[in-house]
Parts: sequence; C-alpha cells; structure tokens
Amino acid sequence: MTSHVADVLIPLALDTAYSYAVPDGLALKEGDVVQVPLATREVVGVVWGVREGPGGNFKKVTGVIDSPSLSPRMRKFLDWIAWYTLAPKGSALAMGLKLVDGDRPEVVRVGVKLAPQLPKRMTPARQRVIEAAQDGVVRLKSELAHLAGVSNGVVDGLIDEGTLETVALLQEPVSEIPNPDFRAAGLSDDQQAAAAALVASMHEEHAPVTLLEGVTGSGKTEVYFEAVAEAVRQGRQALILMPEIALTAQFLDRFAARFGVKPACWHSGVTGRKRERLYAGIASGEVKVTAGARSALFLPYADLGLIVVDEEHETAYKQDDGVHYHARDMAVVRGRIENAPVVLASATPSIETRVNVQRGRYRHVQLPERFGGRQMPQIRAVDLRRETIPKGRWLSPTLNLAIEDTLGRGEQVLLFLNRRGYAPLTLCRACAHRYECPNCSAWLVEHRFRRSLVCHHCGHVERTPQACISCGSIDSLVPCGPGVERIAEEVAETYPDKRSIVLSSDMPGGTERLRSELAAVAAGEIDIVIGTQLVAKGHNFPLMTLVGVLDADIGLTSGDPRAAERTFQLLQQVTGRAGRGEKPGRALVQTWQPDHPVIAALVSGDAERFYDEETRVREMAGLPPFGRLASLIVSAAEREAAEAHARAMALVAHPPPGVTVLGPAEAPLALIRGRYRYRLLVKTEREVDLQAYLRDWLARCPKVRGNTRVAIDVDPQSFL
Ligand code: ADP
Ligand code: ZN
Ligand code: ZN
Repeated sequence: MTSHVADVLIPLALDTAYSYAVPDGLALKEGDVVQVPLATREVVGVVWGVREGPGGNFKKVTGVIDSPSLSPRMRKFLDWIAWYTLAPKGSALAMGLKLVDGDRPEVVRVGVKLAPQLPKRMTPARQRVIEAAQDGVVRLKSELAHLAGVSNGVVDGLIDEGTLETVALLQEPVSEIPNPDFRAAGLSDDQQAAAAALVASMHEEHAPVTLLEGVTGSGKTEVYFEAVAEAVRQGRQALILMPEIALTAQFLDRFAARFGVKPACWHSGVTGRKRERLYAGIASGEVKVTAGARSALFLPYADLGLIVVDEEHETAYKQDDGVHYHARDMAVVRGRIENAPVVLASATPSIETRVNVQRGRYRHVQLPERFGGRQMPQIRAVDLRRETIPKGRWLSPTLNLAIEDTLGRGEQVLLFLNRRGYAPLTLCRACAHRYECPNCSAWLVEHRFRRSLVCHHCGHVERTPQACISCGSIDSLVPCGPGVERIAEEVAETYPDKRSIVLSSDMPGGTERLRSELAAVAAGEIDIVIGTQLVAKGHNFPLMTLVGVLDADIGLTSGDPRAAERTFQLLQQVTGRAGRGEKPGRALVQTWQPDHPVIAALVSGDAERFYDEETRVREMAGLPPFGRLASLIVSAAEREAAEAHARAMALVAHPPPGVTVLGPAEAPLALIRGRYRYRLLVKTEREVDLQAYLRDWLARCPKVRGNTRVAIDVDPQSFL
C-alpha cells in the first residue's frame, strides 16, 4: 500500500504549504478543505498538492471538512495574486475561504402585507406605503419601506395601526434564477450595437476584455445587462463588481425589472447563514448572478462566464490593507484564468485602461450619447477671484442665482463638497492652538451634529470642548473652512423654506437611513442635497437639474500622481448627476483656477484632450502604466525603529538598471493610529520584472524586529 503526503495551505500569513501524512483510507484530492494540527491547535486548510511518499515524519491530516473544494482555477488565481502582490499565499487563501459551520439556527424572517384596516391619520408617506403594498406581495419591512421610499418607522407605524399585518416567512431560496427574457431590453440603436458586441465576445474561443465607455446617463447598465442575460442563457455564472454595493438599491431594482428577480448580493454586510448559503450556492453553480463588492472576486464560482467591473476607474477597488490588490486588475486576471469575458464599464475610464485599449490589449465599445436624446449638462466655471462672498459663506452670488432659478421651477439642486463634517480644522482664537489627532498626523474634523471632533484616519473621537484644552478660554474655538454640515447651515439660512438634506457616509443612521434618503431624493421629496462623493456615484435623480461644485480645487494640489485624473473623474461624475431626467441640466463649478486643465476640460467637454495630455505627462515621467511602481511602508510604534529599519532596507536595495529606489522619506501621513511611517518607493521601467526584484531585495533585508512592520503595495493608488 502506498502512502501519501498532502501539502496543506493554511489561511494565515504563511507563505508555504505544510506537509501532512494522509491517513490510510482517506481519499484526498487537491482543493479539498481539511482539518490539520498546527502547533497545539487544530486549524482548517486547503490541500494544495498531494504526492506519494512516506508520511512517517509528518503529523496526520485530521479529516476532511464539508465545504466546497477549491477548483484548480481558483487555486491558480490565489497563487497568482500572492505572486503579484507579494502577499503570503496563506493570506491570499484567507480571502477565498469561507467556512461552513452549519449549526447556527435559522433566524425566523417576518414579512408584512396589507390588511383591510385603514390608518386613523393618513400622510403622503403612509399613502405611498399602502400603494406599494397594494399588489399583495409579502415583503420584508425594509423592502417595503425602500419600495415606498420611506423610513422603516413609517412601516412600523402602519403595523401598529393594523394597516399592515406581519407574516412569518419561509426560508427563501439562496437566490432565484434570473430570467434572461423577463422583459425585453428596449435598447436604442447605439445601445443595441454595443450590447451585440459584448454578446458576440462571449462566444469567442479566447475571452476578451472590453472597455464599455459611455457618458453618464448613456445606459451602460442596460447594455451590460444583455451580456449578463447571455451568460445566464449559456447556463454560466456572471459577476458584477461594484464599488459601493451597500447603496445600490436602485441598481437592484433595475436588475429585477430586467430579470424578474434580484441578483445575489455579496458584501461585508452579508453575514452568518446567508453568507454560507451564498458561498455554497456559488460553488455549486446554483447562484447565477452575483453583484458584489471587491471581495466577491474571491468566491469559488463553479462556472464563471462573465465579469463586469462597473465604474472601473473607482479607487474603492483598491484594497489598502492586508493583501494590497486592485479588484479591477485582478478581475482581468480571473477572467483570463476562467476564460470569462471581462467588461470594464465607465464614463471616465482610468488612464491605465485607456492605454490598454490603445495598445490593443482591450477592446473598446462606446456609447457617445445619453439615452433618450437627453443632453449632457452644460458646465460653467465660476471664477472665485471675481465673486464677492461674505466671510463664513461659501455659495457665490452666481451659484445662488442659479439655485433660486432652479428651485423656482420646482427642480432639485445638488451641492457637492468632498469634505465630511462641519469644518476640516478647528483652532483657538485666543491661543491659536490647532486641534490635532493624538494618534495621527492629521487635524481633527469638527462634526457639529455629533458635537465632537473626529479623526478621519483612525476614528478617534472627542467631545468638542467648551473651554480650549490649551489655554482654557471659553467659547474661543473657531471652525476653519467648510465641510458639508457647514454648507447645510448656510443653505438653511439662505433657503429657510426649502427642504435640504446632507448625504455623507458618516451621518447617523448608517446605510439603512442613507438608502431611504437616497430614495426620498429620487422621489423628489428634497429640494437641495448637500453631499460628498457618496452622491456622485451612479445614482439617478430624475428631478435634479443643477449641480453646484463648491470647491473644485480640493484634491488638485495633493502630491498624488493621479490627482488631476481623479479630480476630473470625480467632477465629471458629479456634474453628470444633472439633467438625467426629462429636463436638461447644468453645472456650476466654483474654482480659484478656471484655467487649470482639469477645469478647462470639464467646461469644454473635451475629455479626450485632457486624457491625451495627462497620458503624455505620465509617459514622460515613466509613471504607470508606462512604468511600474511599488511602495513599501515601514511602520513602528517608535519613530527611530521605523526610520532605522527603512534605512537598513535602502542600504541593501542594490537597484539594477531600469530600477530606481526612492527614499526612505517620512510618509506624508507620518503617524497613523500611533504608528510612525516611512516610505520607500520603487520605480521601474515597464519591462522590468518588479516582483522578482522585490523578492530579491526583501531576501537581503534584515529581519523585522519588535513591532516593526513592512507593508508592500504593488501598483499603489495611495501615496500618503
Ligand atoms: P450610465 O450607467 O451609463 O450612467 P444608466 O445605465 O444608469 O446610465 O442609465 C441612465 C438612465 O437611462 C437610467 O434611468 C436608465 O433606466 C435609463 N435608460 C438607459 N437605457 C435605457 C433603455 N434602453 N430603456 C429605458 N431606459 C433606459
Ligand atoms: Zn486656546
Ligand atoms: Zn487619528
């Protein structure tokens, strides 16, 4: 009888698989999930290899776990990510392994439906709930509230009054199969041609990557839905990656309108049994369409036939801790391994993707116009050097005129400022003390709703003091500069009889509340929305015809090589919220630098010229995608330790031709969460094997000691 040895990869920060003896009679194959002893514990791991050989010296595999085994393609993908990002293989595995521990009880779900009892008091919100419930379908409370565009509280009130009755629900199937022919698409000619190109690409022998580029409101979603429909017809699975899945209720409704059911959703808010069942359903192939945040890329699809990366330019696709990966780029890799076509959708594609199109590596499908003959918004710069704005105010006379005009016609206004809180800096009028985070090199941001000062880097919160902590003066603190809360104050004073709302990611009430507020905006219940970048993305507000950008220059001055590109993308997205409904829209962009190329491109609508110029600058500087970058952050609880280790690393860098190592330098954010940070930046020519160089170098580096850590970020997006 031959004996076998299994090499088992354990989902911890370990780079190699450990060998275990396979007990007689246990049939193990690669990809199986097993339990093995590790030091004094029992842990779960995945068989990465099985070979014949005497297992005498090794500990034995304890047993096989009832969890879907990982396919060769999935294992290849995880190996690839570990190779590319230089993360330990075990850390890559940890992202792809969710274990089934099946004995938690199922939560009883409660739905609501309409009863014949009318409420004593009728309000417009209640009326909408009743209308939404007319169809007799039993829904979850939150679903009904969302459908009616009201808060859960309105639904609760109707339950109390007996207008709605509660019903226990059976366990729902993990996800229903979308019907590709539920509703015909009804596409315009342009859309039809784009969809046909995507569908055709799904029948090719070698699956391509396609950039689906279309201006905001051109209907990219409707177009890639046709590719999703084709995947379902083929009996294969589709994955739609989105930057912000928790706030995409509108997207889910549109999907349901096209396919009859919602897609399966995967994000960090999906927990417990639901998560396990989805994982198993995706592994078995039962779940056909998954919409998810970047982590959905690591699910064990049985037969992946399509990956869509919506808003492919979004920075949210980059994970900046643990395994530093970019979900868009890894989606392309996974597509190649699975031989699944990849569609990258955006109104403002990243320069990386555009260059891949130019090099002929990606295809290009375009939607040049808005759907339904709608016009792109007219964009104008408001030159802040020529406007007189009272101290402590931020809306220019020109913008105020436009707001009045818009509100006068019963339409909606969006005021965009990418700064959360009330004021980005607080100082003492008496002693000039500036309020700074104790753990980070960052100012504390005043949040007036919460009456506190907050660090946006580590989450440190303190109550806004009555007396200055430095000199003891009473009521001497002054806010400097605006955040959205401060704009809300100005709006309330200027437009006292209008309904306004602040939408930002950190307002009380969390995701649930944001969802219902977004629905309320879409339903026209709000006149003026004041929002951060949260509102820039993907939402459709049909009555919104004016977008005011309060400070277009934020972000242009950061040291980030992508600063101009990012600002352009963000402003293009946010101004694209205007005029998506029947009525034409316009945008006013307040700026101190109306001649800046980003602002000029926005106003002229000549995105092409801007992109060409940016691309040329990148090429001349040898920056991505014309050269390659990796950043290494050395951090420690003591500044000296971090600096000393970074210097010791630099000493053995020995860069070969084509490679430059810059630094170490103190990071712009020199202190985060009590850790001091030093940066080294590796810059190479495009043909250089960056990973091989990094591995060589790291092997020469001294071992880290104490609490010192080195974080490696290949293709960094953040330079802080
Ligand atoms: P994009 O993602 O390109 O900004 P969307 O896919 O969100 O555009 O579409 C913009 C709006 O136009 C949405 O309200 C959408 O429902 C509508 N729309 C786009 N194409 C169609 C179509 N073929 N039929 C009906 N409505 C459409
Ligand atoms: Zn003071
Ligand atoms: Zn902090």
